[in-house]
Amino acid sequence: MLAFLLTPVVGLAACATGSTAAGSQARSSTSASAAASSAAGPPSTQTPGAAASCSGQPTPAETEGPYFKAGSPERASLVDPGMLGTRVVVSGRVLTLDCRSVAGVVLDFWQADASGAYDNAGYRLRGHLTTDSNGRYSLQTIVPADYGGRTQHIHVKVEAPGRPVLTTQLYFPGSARNQQDPLFHPELLMEVVDGAAGKAATFDFVLNFR
Ligand code: FE
Repeated sequence: MLAFLLTPVVGLAACATGSTAAGSQARSSTSASAAASSAAGPPSTQTPGAAASCSGQPTPAETEGPYFKAGSPERASLVDPGMLGTRVVVSGRVLTLDCRSVAGVVLDFWQADASGAYDNAGYRLRGHLTTDSNGRYSLQTIVPADYGGRTQHIHVKVEAPGRPVLTTQLYFPGSARNQQDPLFHPELLMEVVDGAAGKAATFDFVLNFR
């Protein structure tokens, strides 16, 4: 009965336990064919690093800063043709405090370019998208440069339907100026790996409600 009750919670992430949906499925299966398919690889519903980032602790808020501009275009890529800068795909999920994914969340991103400049006249390197039915998002962009007293960061506003907006910033591990930036927050570090076409960064947002 308990298993039946838990089954519908398809959005439940692994939180900090270290277990994964893949492991649960493999353990609950007695079918050789199902075991074989499990052995073929993790299910596509798992994001690398996602389980570890569902701490159940709300993602810290940070200042909006001076460069937010309302009305950004809806798009999954901020990269314009010929744009300078290292390509990075930022992806992950939006979760509740109890690690359930949240669909329909609007994420509004803005950032500096590869020379540390914001476009305050237009919407270059500004855009918003919406999480899918599994609470997932994926944004193609470039790695911003640091500027002034700021280390490399991407601004974002996260708005779940009917909830307060979370305004925060995402950071890059190993960035030379992280420790000198008073706004830098280690809980806002993305996990970043290098790939053939650029970097892949992951971050799961945890919103302050259940
Ligand atoms: Fe900034």
